[in-house]
Amino acid sequence: MREGIIFVVSGPSGSGKTTLTRRVIKMVENLSFSVSFTTRQQRPGEVDGIDYRFISENEFDEMVKSNRFAEWAQVHDHRYGTPVEEIDRIRTSGVDLLLDIDSQGAKSIRKRCDSGVYIFIIPPTFDVLKDRIMRREGERTDEVARRIEDSINEMEEIHSYDYIIINDSLDEAVNKLKAVIIAERCKRERVLK
Ligand code: ADP
Ligand code: 5GP
Repeated sequence: MREGIIFVVSGPSGSGKTTLTRRVIKMVENLSFSVSFTTRQQRPGEVDGIDYRFISENEFDEMVKSNRFAEWAQVHDHRYGTPVEEIDRIRTSGVDLLLDIDSQGAKSIRKRCDSGVYIFIIPPTFDVLKDRIMRREGERTDEVARRIEDSINEMEEIHSYDYIIINDSLDEAVNKLKAVIIAERCKRERVLK
């Protein structure tokens, strides 16, 4: 069995990582989404076990102590972590794995897996980004302010990624992400291993 490929998607909050990854997972065969654990509150429409595993601060502490995370980070005001079992799936079942994680997490995964593919999603403009964050977060003004503030730092990490996708037209961005995945699967060094 060939080992699966790790595709890491990062980008500032509101750039469209969730929207893009959810769409692409449905379109590309043999590609699985890595479900992270988080201490942040569940948003309306999110499903526990599908979007995230929503856990308490104490439960997160326990998982850190027992080395259950391949990586974890504090992002905005919450903690997020990729469980070791998700990463193991590329070896045990050969699936390709799509991770939606921040740049701190991406750095940790890169140390474990240098054959991974690192993709950065950006909005067409900063104003569009603000607008998308405000619409999604609604009345939660503290979340909005924090995310807009953090987006500037996250943008600075763009240079350490292999691919950049501008998410203006959603359909075009979805096609680009799909194209990156398919092209990476065809790379000589992956096929002739
Ligand atoms: P992220 O996961 O990067 O924080 P989301 O996928 O949650 O971003 O997108 C933020 C908001 O912007 C969501 O409400 C989503 O529906 C919307 N959105 C994402 N991509 C586009 C797009 N290309 N055009 C218009 N709205 C978009
Ligand atoms: P959100 O709260 O908008 O779903 O996610 C906030 C940020 O946390 C995003 O940048 C997202 O990519 C990141 N994130 C989600 N899961 C993980 C994870 O397991 N590890 C790390 N490091 N970041 C994550």
